[in-house]
Amino acid sequence: MIPFNKAYISTEEHRNVAEVLESGKLSGNRKFTRKCQAFFEEKYGFAKCLMTTSCTDALEMAAILLDIGPGDEVIMPAYTFVSTANAFVLRGANIKFADSSPQNPNMDMEGIEALITDRTKAIVVVHYAGLACDMDKLMQLAGQYNLFVVEDAAQAIDSNYKGTPLGRFGQLSTFSFHETKNVTSGEGGMLNINDKKLVARAEVIWEKGTNRTAFSRGEVNKYDWLDIGSSFLASEINAAVLFGQLEKLGMIQERRKDIWTRYYVALLPLQEKGLLEVPVAPGYAAQNGHLFYIVLPDRNKREQMIRHLEDKGIKAVFHYLALHQSPYYRDKHDGRYLPNAERYTNTLLRLPLYFELTDEEVDFIAKEVKSSIMEQVSVNK
Ligand SMILES: *Cc1c(COP(=O)(O)O)cnc(C)c1O
Repeated sequence: MIPFNKAYISTEEHRNVAEVLESGKLSGNRKFTRKCQAFFEEKYGFAKCLMTTSCTDALEMAAILLDIGPGDEVIMPAYTFVSTANAFVLRGANIKFADSSPQNPNMDMEGIEALITDRTKAIVVVHYAGLACDMDKLMQLAGQYNLFVVEDAAQAIDSNYKGTPLGRFGQLSTFSFHETKNVTSGEGGMLNINDKKLVARAEVIWEKGTNRTAFSRGEVNKYDWLDIGSSFLASEINAAVLFGQLEKLGMIQERRKDIWTRYYVALLPLQEKGLLEVPVAPGYAAQNGHLFYIVLPDRNKREQMIRHLEDKGIKAVFHYLALHQSPYYRDKHDGRYLPNAERYTNTLLRLPLYFELTDEEVDFIAKEVKSSIMEQVSVNK
């Protein structure tokens, strides 16, 4: 069976974890945590990074830091992971779900301005599959209405918009190091802070509402409870694994992007025949080899494709169920029809993509995608 995903772990992770275990110092905010944070700060230019136990936690920190409270409205795409919304719902916010673009699952920027009201406090963008949203348009709108921007860049590590790293646009942004992401610590995340005014309070929220981080730097001689917060920081064991991954980030990214391009080239002719859609990367967006998806004509054809690939030993998986239709949120949603988000809910399919996937396996998967499509075409005639 070709799995959908497989983490690539080699000597660096083993060596780093052994070092942590042998040191007996396993809790967070030590050497490897700081190395991981410094890596992102230096490579992508964030003012400050804080490693968390997940991207979910980083998003929850963002909602606290921006003082999101009951009655505030937050705009975000309906086609996203539940954590994007949950972090803000936990603070009492109402979510205004935006539709996806007809071109790709990212938010349709044309529809955003109509969702802004006096209560709107923030816009959360999700760079789906690591493909950038139209950030010029979004930042212009956010500036005009004085709104915070948070980038849920969970899938967008090492990707960019017109050459600027994703995660650098909002006051805050978040990465995920879940097993399914480009680099992993098992579970893990990063809060990236671009607005320097937010750094001191972020450190407090990160450490259960205390100034323990300042204490560990010797800046205060005891630490106190100053604010709300939680146990958001990750253990050194997770940071040791992540740093091992970061040591070979360039190699991992190069291979993942090659796989993405190989799928794209193999499947583009099917799009030209109108049989499926391959991802559209607008001119401003780089791709970071996070995820390769296809969009089928309807839900039945996707089901047939999943079964066909499963029979051939290939695990392909659909993705989000649009959040405005979820059991939790559907009676809180304002009732707007979001046709593109619903279309991706029903028709988007993700193909296997991981570092150790071989060219032969990619060619085999692409061939089986074609043969499933051809079966469907001949049945429908
Ligand atoms: C993976 C993902 C998350 C959640 O990441 P965790 O680290 O598992 O909490 C959030 N948002 C998006 C868009 C994701 O892809």
